[in-house]
Amino acid sequence: CGIVAYIGKEQAFPIILKGLKRLEYRGYDSAGIAVLNDDTNLNNYKRQGKVSELENFAADHDTTGTIGIGHTRWATHGLPNNVNAHPHVSSDGEMALIHNGIIENYDSLKEELISRGYEFKSETDTEVLIHLIDDIKKKENVKTAEAVRIALNSVIGAYAIVVVSKDNPNQLIAARKSSPLVVGIGKQGDFYLASDATPIIEYTNEVVYMEDEEIAIVDRNEGLRIFSIQNKEKTPYIQKLEMQ
Ligand code: GLU
Repeated sequence: CGIVAYIGKEQAFPIILKGLKRLEYRGYDSAGIAVLNDDTNLNNYKRQGKVSELENFAADHDTTGTIGIGHTRWATHGLPNNVNAHPHVSSDGEMALIHNGIIENYDSLKEELISRGYEFKSETDTEVLIHLIDDIKKKENVKTAEAVRIALNSVIGAYAIVVVSKDNPNQLIAARKSSPLVVGIGKQGDFYLASDATPIIEYTNEVVYMEDEEIAIVDRNEGLRIFSIQNKEKTPYIQKLEMQ
């Protein structure tokens, strides 16, 4: 339903939390945020209910870190509960992912992954994505961004996703098809990702609306790069939002 992610110099958790509150008008049943901290701990907090419940729950936990992803879920596959809420984390705890939309071929992908030894914790269609990316990463010995790209070539359905991975704490990987995703280009080399511009406008008016079957890599050192899922690099089209 709602996506907010951040990478930059500021603390990610409060920015993402605020962004998720801005997206509350869309309606949702649960909320979650995963933050990668400097010691490469990937801390994942998720709660059924309001964003404020997630906020209260996380209050006495470690939420430090300058890169993170957040989600409000509107359940399509699996009940609204803490386990089914996003982010979903890979079995080895190395990567986390949020997803808007529906993976139509999740059943066949899930069967295949179970036969390859993957254990599913949730009832969501989304969880196939994280295990699929993990499987490709290990099988093909490629980096996370490349594994995401390969994985999306076997996915049927609608998605806006953002992935964070311990093996590269300097980058967020995002992709979309039939579900919107906006990149905000911040003033000090920081980046925002969101399902609509509402959470971004208070930080920047420079945005890139992603197109179908595009992957965006936002990197602390290399900035924003966009590729097609066929691996063709594209020039990001930066738009200026009119501020009221
Ligand atoms: N299909 C996913 C789920 O049920 C994502 C739903 C959403 O867009 O919030 O978990």
